[in-house]
Amino acid sequence: MGKPTGFMEFDRELPSDRSPLERVKDWQEFHNHFPVIKLQEQGGRCMDCGIPFCHSGTLISGMASGCPINNLIPEWNDLVYNGLWKEALQRLHKTNNFPEFTGRVCPAPCEGSCVLGITDPPVTIKNIECSIVDKGFEEGWIQAEPPEKRTGKRVAVVGSGPAGLSCAAQLNRAGHDVTVYERADRIGGLLMYGIPNMKLDKAIVQRRIDLMAKEGITFKTNTEIGIHLPAQKLRDDFDAVVLCCGATKPRDLPIEGRALDGIHFAMEFLHANTKSLLDSKHADGKYISAAGKHVIVIGGGDTGTDCVGTSLRHQCKSLTQFEILPRPPDERPDDNPWPEWPRIYRLDYGQEEAEALFGADPRTYLIMTEKFVGDANGHVKELHTVDVEWARNDNGAMVPQRVAGTEKVWQADLVLLAMGFLGPEATILDELHIERDERSNAKAEYGRFATNIDGIFTAGDMRRGQSLVVWAFNEGRAAARECDRYLMGTTMLP
Ligand SMILES: Cc1cc2nc3c(=O)[nH]c(=O)nc-3n(C[C@H](O)[C@H](O)[C@H](O)COP(=O)(O)OP(=O)(O)OC[C@H]3O[C@@H](n4cnc5c(N)ncnc54)[C@H](O)[C@@H]3O)c2cc1C
Ligand code: SF4
Repeated sequence: MGKPTGFMEFDRELPSDRSPLERVKDWQEFHNHFPVIKLQEQGGRCMDCGIPFCHSGTLISGMASGCPINNLIPEWNDLVYNGLWKEALQRLHKTNNFPEFTGRVCPAPCEGSCVLGITDPPVTIKNIECSIVDKGFEEGWIQAEPPEKRTGKRVAVVGSGPAGLSCAAQLNRAGHDVTVYERADRIGGLLMYGIPNMKLDKAIVQRRIDLMAKEGITFKTNTEIGIHLPAQKLRDDFDAVVLCCGATKPRDLPIEGRALDGIHFAMEFLHANTKSLLDSKHADGKYISAAGKHVIVIGGGDTGTDCVGTSLRHQCKSLTQFEILPRPPDERPDDNPWPEWPRIYRLDYGQEEAEALFGADPRTYLIMTEKFVGDANGHVKELHTVDVEWARNDNGAMVPQRVAGTEKVWQADLVLLAMGFLGPEATILDELHIERDERSNAKAEYGRFATNIDGIFTAGDMRRGQSLVVWAFNEGRAAARECDRYLMGTTMLP
């Protein structure tokens, strides 16, 4: 424990973000950095609890409480307080292959379960994590570390999102020859083409991929397994296969007018935007532009927020976001006590920017779209909505019910559907005869990660459904361990 009285002496402080009105003019990251002295003070707030709930990583009420990859948080807080940054980085890399990603995009369930949070604002764990790894890169401490010995075993990892990358890094560390197949033209999965640049700079993603390539991992892009290369070929050419293809099937809204122009899935919008930004700084025009348009985003989660932030940077004319659920409370309700993840109202970066530009949080709660109406050219021009309230149906399930008399018409030129994802795509699973669970995800027991087909493992969103980057790391690392055990009969991987 760096400073026994730190939690009483120092208030929780975070570096300010760049001003919303400034940052919407570009695609650069919106976080600023803290000077070292401030970070040391914040690390000094950690109480080094006997039972550090922050790194326990359990699921309570279906949500993560504590860090899912069991980051050794009190240890690195202490090391940061004492100025031992290199040692803090070593501790951080023991549990997390890529802290520069979680340090930027993780919702930080660790902070929701920090013991200090019972009475005071929690320790700034995520910001300290990000600062440790950023310093590691600045100082040149993070270099390629290829394994000393190779086992001669070959493993194919399909999908290069956070699950595939963490799995590949661990398998390579164990000495196996790893090839990662990715259907997109760039590596990274949703780290590259889902989460926009202002939240996670793509140069930061590429920097880590370049290091992994130097460590001996082979990356093959533009290769969709099941389309460009038969899945069976992987079984023939490799000793084991790990499927990390994500849960990329979007939830649709099959109502009247859905076929009109101007209605897109969020991922079509976000993927094309980042690709065009990286390829040509948008000069090629190969993206769906929100410029000068009335935009409505349907869905209030992370994906919806990214659509908001992206539309604002295109200079949309107006921005509205629909959420079918009620507005969360400002404080934890009684049925959501510490150390559960706090289900409270938050103003995320996109909504903060919309508020600065247009004067209000763009979210409208408890609203349902009933039909889209188009103009004479077949382009969407209106959304017809109704308010809802949640009530139990005959089977006891909570369902949204229309509130008669609350019908409303909204003007829209661009509608973005961000209502979540239904599970993995079928092609590769069907070809390999992989069993599914009742939610259509690839079936494999958590902890073992083995599918019904010998030598084929699965991890990340493809196994658990759309989740978080940190859970993808958890599963990718653990699937690598089980794959190593399968190949070698024993394993040293954590
Ligand atoms: C817009 C958006 C924003 C998000 N923001 C956050 C956030 O801020 N914080 C957070 O923690 N989580 C966030 N998430 C969730 C998080 O990104 C995912 O949970 C995580 O990326 C899952 O990792 P994964 O490796 O399992 O799958 P993915 O990241 O989806 O990667 C799967 C990869 O497999 C590839 N692939 C699929 N099929 C094949 C095939 N047959 N052959 C070759 N390649 C294939 C895909 O192209 C893709 O690149 C967000 C999700 C979205 C959609
Ligand atoms: S990975 Fe996420 S949960 Fe774990 S310490 Fe970092 S911010 Fe917290």
